[in-house]
Amino acid sequence: MDKILRHDQHCRLCGSNHLATALKLEDTPLEDQFLKTAAFQSTFPLELALCEDCGYLHLPYIVSPEVSYSDYMYVSGVTVGLRQHYDTYAEDNPLKHETFSPGHHIPVYSSTKLYEEDSAYVLVLAWQHQKSILEKHSILLDKGFKFIIPLPDLKVI
Ligand SMILES: [Zn+2]
Repeated sequence: MDKILRHDQHCRLCGSNHLATALKLEDTPLEDQFLKTAAFQSTFPLELALCEDCGYLHLPYIVSPEVSYSDYMYVSGVTVGLRQHYDTYAEDNPLKHETFSPGHHIPVYSSTKLYEEDSAYVLVLAWQHQKSILEKHSILLDKGFKFIIPLPDLKVI
């Protein structure tokens, strides 16, 4: 690979080279690089790699920061859409209730707050615990909730 794109073939957490492709999408232009006129844009591989030894999920293709952030319009801390999108961060762990998520400072509430809603989509970020989460909150399925399980295979329940 050249200086613009690097393919990391080792897990960033444990160093293992036992990586499996968890998700492979079409080559994609860099996020948030809007054009003033329709023109050719460079595309880059977009994949998720799963470490088969420690379970860490990461992007194995890394575009150099000089290219990625040279004309970057998105600032997550002040982007209203992201904050609204995740305006309810439900958590089963009581130690995290009434706190704010790291980085984006999204308010974290008890997952029981979901029971006050008529229906919603719930993104299960702790997909490794999907079985227990679905069992614990099965009544929400009866209320019309949908659970989005992103990994290891995307499914909507
Ligand atoms: Zn690993």
